[in-house]
Amino acid sequence: MVQEVSHNPLRELPSVDLLLGRPAFSTTLLLYGRDLVRVQIRSELDRLRAEIRSSKTAIDSLELEHRVDGLADRVRIGLEEAFGAPIRRVLNATGVFLHTNLGRAPLPPAVASVLPGLLDASCDLEFDLESGERGDRNDSVAALLAALTGAEAAVVVNNNAAALVLILASCARGREVVVSRGELVEIGGSFRIPDILEAAGVGLVEVGTTNRTRLSDYEQAIGRDTGLLLKVHTSNYRQVGFVESVSSADLAELGKRLGLAVVVDEGAGLLRPHPAPQLADHTSLSEVIAAGCDLACGSGDKVLGGPQAGLIVGSADLVERCRRYALYRAVRPDRTTLVTLESVLRLHLAGTALPLDRLWPDAAEHRHRLEWVGSKLGAEIVEAEAFVGGGAAPAQAIPGQALALPESPALLEGMRRTEPPVVGYIRHGRLVLDLRTVDPADDETLVGSVLEAQAALEP
Ligand SMILES: *Cc1c(COP(=O)(O)O)cnc(C)c1O
Repeated sequence: MVQEVSHNPLRELPSVDLLLGRPAFSTTLLLYGRDLVRVQIRSELDRLRAEIRSSKTAIDSLELEHRVDGLADRVRIGLEEAFGAPIRRVLNATGVFLHTNLGRAPLPPAVASVLPGLLDASCDLEFDLESGERGDRNDSVAALLAALTGAEAAVVVNNNAAALVLILASCARGREVVVSRGELVEIGGSFRIPDILEAAGVGLVEVGTTNRTRLSDYEQAIGRDTGLLLKVHTSNYRQVGFVESVSSADLAELGKRLGLAVVVDEGAGLLRPHPAPQLADHTSLSEVIAAGCDLACGSGDKVLGGPQAGLIVGSADLVERCRRYALYRAVRPDRTTLVTLESVLRLHLAGTALPLDRLWPDAAEHRHRLEWVGSKLGAEIVEAEAFVGGGAAPAQAIPGQALALPESPALLEGMRRTEPPVVGYIRHGRLVLDLRTVDPADDETLVGSVLEAQAALEP
């Protein structure tokens, strides 16, 4: 609303209540509530008054209206600084699928769309609708996990770190666990195998050397105090050259011969072998079970593509032992996790394409996509490497094509400020946008965000 030039712009400032009614404040009101927004508007109005008073140049109505319009952003930013910004949807154009900073695995859209109906009402999580009696919260996912991995039984906890602690504590507390020196890894800041063993109250017996461990090394280390044999997938690093390790199958055979349980921390939650060459040498949970190992554990939000969870699969008696152990109560998942995991596992069972599969797109379709988005943005098509990420297959790049704009740190930053924000990366003098980690349904939105960021940079 443009008004006549006034002698005193301070008199033209709208009241707090008038501002509260403006549409520009509606989202902020929903996030923080009327009281907080009112206080913040008052303090921003005070600041604006001070600016107007100290302004060297006259402020006309147009300029005033412009500054009043800016209040909505200032109020929102002030509240975000004080009370935290809400978690936002982000378009991940980094080419790293399981991006640890961007929430790891995105859920399949089909799962995300059934969740609301299961979460905003009661559900039969622990209720048997047939008999009207109490059920078990684990039942819904256990049967699916068993079917998908060939294991006798399964149980789910909050994350894979908890899964490993629960296994070690319930099966070997107060005893020794034998691990290869090449597998004493650190995965993410706070997950180190020796610390996990200590937390679980088991003793660590290291065998072999950093680069080579043989079956005989395990045999020699086994004694009266041995509780179990543990094999850990070295998810986020890779040894090449003069290396040797013992396969799950050989370890399982040794365990059977000596009457010791063999446990494998598979890490990635790969249920079955994956056709992609980058995942070909990763032993899946079903292969670990088929090899004769007693228990295996993995993450729900890595290559499985589900919510954060720890999956334990294996023999019925050892799984039961985990479930009966007191610690289970402290690490069992809530309904959000179980409902989400169940939906994702059903897609695996049905053989439905999952977001991870976007890393290996159909060449013609991908080309078409790149051309369409590229033409809107004025971007060219370049060779680029994508990665599974999340510690899975760290060195195995997935060759392919992505979009590139001229290198611009300002644009990279500007894209993070759009709604929704877009995250890309700069390499070899270019700003790269890799669509293999973006849902094709989001292409138009991505174009909108990047165009907005480009426009904001123009003088
Ligand atoms: C990722 C990983 C873990 C930790 O899993 P979280 O679900 O993040 O707790 C443990 N072990 C291995 C081998 C892993 O790759």
